[in-house]
Amino acid sequence: QETPRTHFIRQIIESDLASGKHARLVTRFPPEPNGYLHIGHAKSIVLNFGLAQAFTGECHLRFDDTNPHKENLEFVEAIKQDVRWLGFDWGERVYFASDYFEQLYAFAIELIEQGHAYVCDLTAEETRLHRGTLTEPGRDSPYRNRSIAENRDLFTRMRAGEFPDGARTLRARIDMASPNINLRDPVLYRIKHGVVHHQTGSAWCLYPTYDYTHPISDALEGVTHSLCTLEFEDHRPLYDWCLEHVSVPCQPRQIEFSRLNLEYTVMSKRRLTELVAEGHVDGWGDPRMPTLAGLRRRGYTPAAIRDFCERVGITKSDNLVEMALLESAIRDDLDAHAPRRMAVLRPLKVVLINDPESLVDSIEARNHPKDDGLGVRSIPFSRELYIDQTDFAENPPKGFKRLVPGGEVRLRNAYVIRCEEVIKDGQGRIVALHAWVDHDTLGRDPQGRKVKGVIHWVSADHARRAEVRLYDRLFRTPVPGAGNADFRADINPDSLRVLNEALVEPALADALPGERFQFEREGYFVVDPDTSAERPVFNLTVGLRDTWGK
Ligand code: ATP
Ligand code: MG
Ligand code: MG
Repeated sequence: QETPRTHFIRQIIESDLASGKHARLVTRFPPEPNGYLHIGHAKSIVLNFGLAQAFTGECHLRFDDTNPHKENLEFVEAIKQDVRWLGFDWGERVYFASDYFEQLYAFAIELIEQGHAYVCDLTAEETRLHRGTLTEPGRDSPYRNRSIAENRDLFTRMRAGEFPDGARTLRARIDMASPNINLRDPVLYRIKHGVVHHQTGSAWCLYPTYDYTHPISDALEGVTHSLCTLEFEDHRPLYDWCLEHVSVPCQPRQIEFSRLNLEYTVMSKRRLTELVAEGHVDGWGDPRMPTLAGLRRRGYTPAAIRDFCERVGITKSDNLVEMALLESAIRDDLDAHAPRRMAVLRPLKVVLINDPESLVDSIEARNHPKDDGLGVRSIPFSRELYIDQTDFAENPPKGFKRLVPGGEVRLRNAYVIRCEEVIKDGQGRIVALHAWVDHDTLGRDPQGRKVKGVIHWVSADHARRAEVRLYDRLFRTPVPGAGNADFRADINPDSLRVLNEALVEPALADALPGERFQFEREGYFVVDPDTSAERPVFNLTVGLRDTWGK
């Protein structure tokens, strides 16, 4: 395995460990269980778990579960499965922010006792109006100077369920004139009745906000470096404020890096949720989705995703990563490891007319051109074959190197053939080709002439029918919904084409879900979970070459 590239966060950690500031690195990956993980999360997982591995520290998987109405156990389980699939291990214990609800409440009482928090009766809308803008300072809430005793009493009663949703909040008492809007008395607690939390059930009707929960959870777990994306840079003063004003055991350091943005897809969970809910895709694990579940079903390997994340690197500058970078990571992995097979996606029959008795009835072929370890297999051969319709042209365009009337081509791993006759039906459609076979060309060059083209094929008698799903980008534009347009308008209507008539060599028919192959000259394919003995199903993972922008 290659040593990962260094970056500014690695350097900070190296120096913190070298100086003895920390004896041991502790990071965390804090997903909210309100959707499935996507390739952007993979960047954060690879960073956090990868650093813990590199420095023999630990990385906690912590569910950031303070918004119960959008969260559920299905998402919790899917997230665990995906982190494990990516190749990471969170150890004995899974953490939940909700594990700390009681402690967070006690710290809130502590803030109240010290005059650092107050119960505010402004509505959400009034709170927003009081907050001010970038150019205008905020205005103090009329409830800002309540007595400590009154705050304690009201907060206790908020917990007891005496007030309806939205009636009151607990706010930090910081500075309504701060140039940083996040410090203008941010809300720490809101009332939410009637939601059953997936971990705490109905025990609470009071829920802490992310900004309050996150730093304290980090501190309680002994996290040393809390890595998050750049949009939290302006929240860092609040992160530090919380830690300074409650009696936590340590002071984690928040460090921001730029989030992953990828062309031709969306990554906000709101949009992904909409794609699923509105049926634009077949669930979170649809092979066109940027989710880890989708990429897995598409045939991506964990190694390729980790490699992609390393290639993207960790910086503080926002950029849009080309889809070609993700695709080249999986292509490199599959090129090295996927066995080769032949599959004819759009079959056209070819009948060999001369001396059929002396044809071999099977051909031994290597499974990988560069890796003998993958062995060989036997491919049945017979006088009736199928080739791909696109490998024959009656009126070839210039430069066409495949089969044409009167022209020769090599059948991959087998003989050279020449097209003698084009057979058509009553409507003039081509139904078969008759071809002459040069019996002396098995494993040998033909005598006295050069044959350039090589095409793949399957034996008609032995091939098995398969369904092949050809996936393309889910969106037509690099930044779906750019300029405030509805991102749905950019959905690619041709992101899935299903070929039902494909024929595959017999060695493919019993492949198991998740097995990956190169279909020679076509691309890399994975067996879909929908597969069955009667109807094998293959998904296109990626083509053989980069075709973006072509
Ligand atoms: P959304 O805002 O769409 O709901 P989120 O970022 O809030 O997504 P979380 O589940 O809270 O989703 O994310 C968990 C962790 O993954 C966070 O630390 C977050 O910073 C990180 N993360 C999420 N998206 C990306 C991304 N595109 N690139 C890098 N890290 C990301
Ligand atoms: Mg979110
Ligand atoms: Mg979040």
